[in-house]
Amino acid sequence: KKPLVQVEGLKRHFQVGGGKTLKAVDDVSFEIYPGETFGLVGESGCGKSTLGRTLIRLYDATDGKVLFDGEDVHGTKSKTELKALTRRIQMIFQDPYASLNQRMNVEDIIAEGMDAHGLAKNRAERTKRVVELLETVGLNAEHAKRFPHEFSGGQRQRIGIARALAVDPDFIIADEPISALDVSIQAQVVNLLQKLQRERGLTYLFIAHDLSMVKHISDRIGVMYLGGMVELATSDDLFEEPLHPYTQALLTAIPIPDPRLERERKRQLLQGDLPSPIDPPSGCRFRTRCPFATEHCKNKAPEWREVRPNHWVACHLYGSESDRAAMKA
Ligand code: SF4
Ligand code: MG
Repeated sequence: KKPLVQVEGLKRHFQVGGGKTLKAVDDVSFEIYPGETFGLVGESGCGKSTLGRTLIRLYDATDGKVLFDGEDVHGTKSKTELKALTRRIQMIFQDPYASLNQRMNVEDIIAEGMDAHGLAKNRAERTKRVVELLETVGLNAEHAKRFPHEFSGGQRQRIGIARALAVDPDFIIADEPISALDVSIQAQVVNLLQKLQRERGLTYLFIAHDLSMVKHISDRIGVMYLGGMVELATSDDLFEEPLHPYTQALLTAIPIPDPRLERERKRQLLQGDLPSPIDPPSGCRFRTRCPFATEHCKNKAPEWREVRPNHWVACHLYGSESDRAAMKA
């Protein structure tokens, strides 16, 4: 199957004060296939939102490449080409309130992208499409003339989803779309996103700070740490057999109801604080918190390798023969 999104050696660095560089996204490579949900997970500040925004060209790439349906997202483009591309990729944000224009009514919010891309021939068709979209996301025609402040958090996220759908995209980047919602509402929004995926063949990049949030909806999951991707596997493989010490630590942080497992869990919990991405540790980024770190981890960054079919990891414990030998030295 041909990937819809190909990310190759992508870097997004920011110049910060004192001649320093914040490596928010640093040499990340992965693919997203049509119709799948790719979960992207990591602690806050690990670069997952920056990665999402760089995929859609809200940020320029410092280095590397993003291909969308074979097309270079960051390449030189005419206005028309750029417009065609931005129609196919939409974003849903964590805070639907902040992302909706408070002075516009729901109809205008939803139709804004439609107008920009000339998707409705006239006023009547525009209204008709807006009402269809409202119904698609579980709202109705009466909501069209109201304003964002009149809605609950869950309803506002539905409006954000309707706005994204209005231009008939292929790929939706959902940046923590349920993190700000009550737990009881989270499942409803997830169910809606899954229904829309089935009906419209959508492809999702679903960003979250918590593995438990992406477990059930993701076909595959990528785990980020300090600007780098450390593990990528199918959701089942990642939960059944996490390979990277960081993923293992994240999984032990998920509450376990069995007290017998508590001791093992304490042993593996993350030690220390998250280092700054401005001056990350040499070699393996995770070494300052890794229970298995050696001198070799300090001296050499682990390679990104497919160690089992469709299971990628960046850790010397699963490295080449010479890296594994150096770990034992
Ligand atoms: Fe830990 Fe070393 Fe693997 Fe990094 S390379 S995760 S420090 S064992
Ligand atoms: Mg974020």
